[in-house]
Amino acid sequence: QAKRDGGGSYRFFEPYMETESMQKLEMGNHLREAMLRGELEVYYQPQVDCTQGRIFGIEALLRWNHTKRGFISPAQFIPLAEELNLIVPIGEWVLREACQYTKKLQQEYGIPLQISVNLSVKQLMEKDIVDKVHAVLEETGLSPSDLELEITENMAMKDEQLETLGKLRELGIAISIDDFGTHYSSLSYLKRFPVTKIKLDQFFVRGIQTDERDRAMIRAIILMAKSFQLQMVAEGVETPEQAQFLNESGCELIQGFYFFKPMPADDVRRVLLESQADKIKRSQ
Ligand code: C2E
Ligand code: MG
Ligand code: MG
Ligand code: MG
Repeated sequence: QAKRDGGGSYRFFEPYMETESMQKLEMGNHLREAMLRGELEVYYQPQVDCTQGRIFGIEALLRWNHTKRGFISPAQFIPLAEELNLIVPIGEWVLREACQYTKKLQQEYGIPLQISVNLSVKQLMEKDIVDKVHAVLEETGLSPSDLELEITENMAMKDEQLETLGKLRELGIAISIDDFGTHYSSLSYLKRFPVTKIKLDQFFVRGIQTDERDRAMIRAIILMAKSFQLQMVAEGVETPEQAQFLNESGCELIQGFYFFKPMPADDVRRVLLESQADKIKRSQ
């Protein structure tokens, strides 16, 4: 029996679970069951290259479709999954699923398409992570250069993890720094990381229309990315004004609701078809 809390919404946890750690334990169990019951689903958000007007890649974003609570945001369960090390099997599942699906799309449409997968530091800490990623590529037949692993800057990153990133790079896999600019270590990471791309955090994008300091910061980050010969994609772009400013400033790779929201796998097919038809129309 679910119980109403003060806010008037139903509580997920039973009242007997008084302590936070018990709640965590319970939610961890729910998450484990969710995996087995197939309640986890990979959504995909297209990334657009504005110079060519085409989708160059998609980012895999995990969703938990809970039987009672509906969709639960990864922001709510990824931190817990990391704490309980559940992120290791979950992340591996996402990786396999995403690579498999992308390979299928490449074959169906005969187009180049990159897949970006978020990788937790916990996964990077796994002794055999390089072998695991390699195995998934072999299994699915996806080319390593079509896979990008997104790493969020994290204090837990040690030399061993940087070494692991180097090995993944050697396989030909692309590495990007996620949420770039919002963590204290951003700049030093550029020096230490074998990265290929930075993802400008939506925090900066949000201020484009209102804050000259955000615009100045973005211009500076774009210059820096160029001088490091890094690709750069802006996240969280929601308005045409934001997209225009970024384009004019030299950041042509855009990800955000303005173009596409994260969507279920089947919708990606439709969107790819439409964008292809669009291009054919324009070239006629
Ligand atoms: P992220 O990797 O930085 O992903 C971008 C987040 O911004 C996503 O939230 C996406 O839905 C959202 N977003 C994209 N465009 C817009 C926009 O225009 N406006 C706004 N307001 N938001 C936008 P989401 O899907 O809730 O994921 C949150 C975070 O959870 C991700 O941030 C990522 O760090 C983590 N995550 C998601 N899937 C996985 C996964 O499979 N493994 C791991 N380790 N982490 C994951
Ligand atoms: Mg990401
Ligand atoms: Mg991000
Ligand atoms: Mg993030």
